[in-house]
Amino acid sequence: HTVYISRDYSSLAVGSNDVAKAVEKEASSRNIPLKIVRTGSYGLYWLEPVVEVELGGNKRVAYGPVEVEQVQSLFDSGFLEGLDHPLYLGNIQEHPYLKNQKRLIFERIGRNDPLSLDSYVECGGFIGLRKAIEWGQSKVIDEVYKSGLRGRGGAAFPTGIKWKTTWQATSSQKFIVCNADEGDSGTFSDRMVMEGDPFLLIEGMMIAGFAVGADKGYIYLRSEYPLAYEILNEAIFICKSAGLLGKRIFGSSFSFDLEVFLGAGAYVCGEETALLDSLEGKRGMVRPRPPLPAVKGLWGKPTVINNVITLSSVPWILSHGAEAYASLGVNRSKGTLPVQLSGNLQYPGLVEIPFGISLKELIYGFGGGTRSGRPLKAIQIGGPLGPYLPDSLLDIPLDYEELSKIKGIVGHGGIVAFDDSANLAHMAHYAMEFCAEESCGKCTPCRIGSTRGMELIEKIIMGKGSRRELELLFDLCDTMLNASLCGLGGMTPFPVLSALRYFPEDFGYSKAEVL
Ligand code: SF4
Repeated sequence: HTVYISRDYSSLAVGSNDVAKAVEKEASSRNIPLKIVRTGSYGLYWLEPVVEVELGGNKRVAYGPVEVEQVQSLFDSGFLEGLDHPLYLGNIQEHPYLKNQKRLIFERIGRNDPLSLDSYVECGGFIGLRKAIEWGQSKVIDEVYKSGLRGRGGAAFPTGIKWKTTWQATSSQKFIVCNADEGDSGTFSDRMVMEGDPFLLIEGMMIAGFAVGADKGYIYLRSEYPLAYEILNEAIFICKSAGLLGKRIFGSSFSFDLEVFLGAGAYVCGEETALLDSLEGKRGMVRPRPPLPAVKGLWGKPTVINNVITLSSVPWILSHGAEAYASLGVNRSKGTLPVQLSGNLQYPGLVEIPFGISLKELIYGFGGGTRSGRPLKAIQIGGPLGPYLPDSLLDIPLDYEELSKIKGIVGHGGIVAFDDSANLAHMAHYAMEFCAEESCGKCTPCRIGSTRGMELIEKIIMGKGSRRELELLFDLCDTMLNASLCGLGGMTPFPVLSALRYFPEDFGYSKAEVL
């Protein structure tokens, strides 16, 4: 018998290690030979720990959420034969939450051992890289451009254009840097890929390296992801042992080497120029642009910096073709986005879906509405510096341009839901506090403005806010928006202004006063 149990970080947090141990112990006490494969998570987090049993003929059935105390009863009821039990979920691939997705990046995650190179190759791994080497640099860049892929870290810049800039820069040394400093609240898709399918990211980085002429890559990983660190390093070691990294591959003259660099917990290091400073061993401070990192990046050399999801989208694009990718999505938002649902929702988890789906469908269709059963008050989309949107705006489609029309952002695809017990004035205060805490200190609007913003909102919350405080707050937000050097200071007003606009009563103001 083979049993699959996730060991990604969120599953571990709800006890998947203990469940795996309990399953092993129970099997051995019953003299049942059993193989446990630890996988990534499917991302149906309210069901974790999920225990999946292989029944032969590639058929699997799942049970969940399993607690240690229920393991004995699973054995008693014959779960190894796929028999019924109160935790029976059936074939998890048929679960509407999974079935209604379009998984390109996440197609393998949850099914197999993330560190089995054989199973990665069996499931289509390295087809993209082989094609890239066969096609040559300019065709690869053209294909990525045609796919319409845009940076999934938040900036949404066309990946093909970024790659082309670095490709065209003349230098004896170029770099690929993967931005894995996933620090937005409510985001976890990068982590899931790194823990659940590390070879995919490695392949994406190798393709990028080949395309632009870089032979060295770094994964800049946030220090709060110890398991991803372990798995990535193990995956790199496996690739090196198999002659895929550090050596010429597939009969070509291309070779690529890769290492993981651990950050030190600063949110601003997710900003690409601060990330480069940190990678060079300096304190992470934002660099003014130009020059662009694509031309003058790491140690002054041309550098492609892409997010985990961006790079992990590339193998699929090359193996299936740009046209197939671009046929998904809407307008200039092509392909799929792994949306991360969290907060006060019945069904939090990972939903990879083509652009164009409405936010309503995501929140109510997939997310199942609030977990508390109270009315939904707001969602925050795009991380801690994304705006708060009221329920009435949720008909808007997931589309970079459509969202920007209502001053919304897609960001890294994280959506956090709040019910009507949330106070948005407190959330606005939190945004300023977050900015004050994480500011790199280089420019005044952000460094000083965030603290003044906290003080103003505190005054307003205490009921001492007059018309003057409101005007000052608007003024301050305007300065931060227009005069900050990077997005941290420049976007902090988004949650503040949206909270004021849609929920003025939480601040003690009337609608007429804030408009
Ligand atoms: Fe640093 Fe804030 Fe200015 Fe960005 S906006 S450069 S984080 S001080």
